[in-house]
Amino acid sequence: MTTEQVAARINPWHVAQQQFDLAADRLNLDEGLRRVLREPRRELTVHFPVKMDDGHVQVFTGYRVQHNLGRGPAKGGIRYHQDVSLDEVKALAMWMTWKCAVVAIPFGGGKGGVIVDPKRLSMKELEALTRRFTTEIEVLIGPERDIPAPDVNTNAQVMAWMMDTYSMHHGYTVPGVVTGKPISLGGSEGRHEATARGTVYCILEAAEHLGLDLGLARVVVQGFGNAGSIAARLITAEGATVIAVSDSEGGVHHPDGLDVNRLIAWKAERGTVRGFPGARAVTNAELLEIECDVLIPAALENQITSRNADRIHARIVAEAANGPTTPDADRILFERGIFMIPDILCNAGGVTVSYFEWVQDLNRDHWSEAIVNTKLKEIMVRAFREVLETDLREEGNMRLAAYLVAVQRVADATAMRGLYP
Ligand code: GLU
Repeated sequence: MTTEQVAARINPWHVAQQQFDLAADRLNLDEGLRRVLREPRRELTVHFPVKMDDGHVQVFTGYRVQHNLGRGPAKGGIRYHQDVSLDEVKALAMWMTWKCAVVAIPFGGGKGGVIVDPKRLSMKELEALTRRFTTEIEVLIGPERDIPAPDVNTNAQVMAWMMDTYSMHHGYTVPGVVTGKPISLGGSEGRHEATARGTVYCILEAAEHLGLDLGLARVVVQGFGNAGSIAARLITAEGATVIAVSDSEGGVHHPDGLDVNRLIAWKAERGTVRGFPGARAVTNAELLEIECDVLIPAALENQITSRNADRIHARIVAEAANGPTTPDADRILFERGIFMIPDILCNAGGVTVSYFEWVQDLNRDHWSEAIVNTKLKEIMVRAFREVLETDLREEGNMRLAAYLVAVQRVADATAMRGLYP
């Protein structure tokens, strides 16, 4: 079986619930609370028509799930991918709840997705799909209720269409309904780089903790979208050497290092990193097994599983993606002494700057990039240290520690609010 086939067989929702159960057991969580937090609050499935360029009507399926609203409005991205499923969106929504809690920003967790390969759509079709999907999920979203953002295969342009659609229906401009917008429409400075920047802040903290010199570190990045490509650029600026990267079509490897800026230009021109001159071609599965100091999975779920975890040769795994490692693989990596920076901490920089964007929108304010990055660093470093302290105290692992911090915060908020009615 290929990595893709293995990944497709593992249900991310079962993974998310298993991860939660481990933390709930350790926290001795009240049974009622456990039952509440183990399920999403709301799940919406929509089937909606789009008129394609050739005149025929196609019906697409999409989802918006709100996992928990205890600490604030639901927050989380919208994903466009051919493999989207309700269970995947439920998992991603639950992970958003813990992510917002671990960095202590006042949001609950939500996520959305549409089953579509956007690379097969024209710009006009993509816009029509986005506008109609926004209309369909409008029963849930709103600046005080549920705030979407970019995720896999969505970007600032898609957010601009969502914001415009919502605003047209309300008769006035509502910038706070989505984050990750273009700067000209109330987007935040630094949001585009925020996920990767947060990941790099975490890696710097981990390297310091482990006594690893980043100047000598070799880095492998799986996924070359928003998180992966920018993480590769930012980690290079810290002195590390990126020796291999990949995207959905395959990867490239050079033991002496790859020129990341040239790779970004290559991908922008050709749509893939494959064929990059002077580098050896590798598959996504081979890429994960390359010996390195820092491995950054920045693509999709279920990439590191019990089938390949014993062949991961990294000192640090920094999860810029959501859900790249299964619980079985987690155990193997932990036993092998690999330091894990779990997704809900490692990629929380994106939603943190989304929070800044939302605050700026609500206040009709605009902060400089320097202010955004300073505040981001403060939040990421504090969260990392809280999780590390919990890890050292509980003698668990970094994922369990992040869950202990996050689940406790959500449980406290839920218990304090009490049950209605
Ligand atoms: N899609 C990103 C994530 O998984 C960002 C979510 C947001 O900014 O709301 O964290």
